[in-house]
Parts: sequence; structure tokens; C-alpha cells
Amino acid sequence: MKSSGMLDSAEKERYKRQLMLIGDEAQSRLREATVFIAGAGGLGCPVALYLAAAGIGRIVIADMDRVEITNLNRQVLFDETSIGTEKSVAVKERLQRLNPHIRVEAITATIDDSSAGTLVGSADIIVDATDNFTTRYSLNRVACRNAVPLVHGAVCGFDGQVATIIPGKTACFKCMFPHPPPTGPAPVIGTTAGIIGMIQANEVIKYITARGSLITGQILLWDGLSATIEYVPAERDPACSECRQLR
Ligand SMILES: [Zn+2]
Repeated sequence: MKSSGMLDSAEKERYKRQLMLIGDEAQSRLREATVFIAGAGGLGCPVALYLAAAGIGRIVIADMDRVEITNLNRQVLFDETSIGTEKSVAVKERLQRLNPHIRVEAITATIDDSSAGTLVGSADIIVDATDNFTTRYSLNRVACRNAVPLVHGAVCGFDGQVATIIPGKTACFKCMFPHPPPTGPAPVIGTTAGIIGMIQANEVIKYITARGSLITGQILLWDGLSATIEYVPAERDPACSECRQLR
């Protein structure tokens, strides 16, 4: 990520309150960054919303679905007028209204092993805002191949989890979850998706601006019913099919 170019006066005004915190150089880094968000659902909406507001210069968001009424309890970028619209397109329109200084690219496609590499492209970081292990394994494979970080998030009911993967340095997604669990639509309360999505967006901002410490080598577990966070360690698997050759 380069950080070339000065912020113009409109950007300085818009980002004033965060420039007080991170400064122009870090803000320029956000502007020069490309973030790939896989999924425009319960996680993808808050991730995309906060990254656009923060000034990530290029957001690529991919989802294959159209907005349905059952999405509206948690997919906060949509409203009743969005129903029937492609989710990625609806997100793009909403984000461009929020922040015209950034570029948002909407992709309506299935993310799998044959498409993931092309869709991710040269993104600086990948956000896993999906809801299934097949897609997560595909994203992890691309992250390991491209040596770019992957911020995993998942929700179920009042519970959620986040882990940031730095391929070659930390446990990858496959190290953490070698076997997919049984699948099926999970119950979700909207606030869980919001909290987990925001932790993911926060990881992206910290990574790009090189601030704080990331949730690496461990998994953050959120329990919304007790409002507590726990961390469980996640070790690299020396025999991992995805990352064993990475140093
Ligand atoms: Zn691994």
C-alpha cells in the first residue's frame, strides 16, 4: 500500500475527527487501499458502511443474492425500497451517497475456487463476511496464495467470532477450522452481526494504518447474552494443506 498524494481540503474536512487521531499519512494510506469484502449481508453491510465512512479508497464487494424482506433485521444498508435489487449494487449506491471520495465496485457473483482469485484481484486485504465454509476455504486459499491478510467473521444467534489471518505468520482459516461444520441457515440477531462486522472493520483500519495489535493467533469469541469477549488460541498446523509451505 502506498500513501502518496496529499489530502485535499474536502477530505481534510470530512475526516477531521479521525485525522486528529491518525494523521494525514495514515488517512492517505486508507485512501490508497483496496479492500475486498466477500458478502453483502449481515456482516458485509456494517463492514462496508464503516470502511466507506473511514475513507477506504477502493471497496470491492461481492455477493450473488438480491435483497429480501428477511434480510432487513440485520442487513442495515438496505430498506424496503431495496427489495429485489442485487445486494452488491444496493451497497454500492448507498456507499457512494455516503462518501463520493471513494470508489465502490459491485460484483454479483458466486465466490468459489474458480472465481475467488479473479474477484479478489490485487486487494490489500480480504474480509470474510460470508456465511458458509466452502466460500471461506476459497477465500483462505486466495489469501494464502496472494499473501494478503484475511479477516474472518461469523455469527450465530447472540454469538460471534473474529480472527485475523496473516498468511505465513499466523494460523490460517484452515489451520483453525480443518473440517466444515454441518450447514444450514443460522439464527441471527442483528446486533450480533453489527458488533462482529464492526470488529472486522476495525481490524482492517488497524492493519492499513499500522496501529494497535490485530486479532492474530487467536479467535475472538463474542457472547452477546453476557456481553463478554473471550480469546481462544489458534496455532498454525504444520501439516496444513493451505499454509504449510508459507514462511
Ligand atoms: Zn493453515
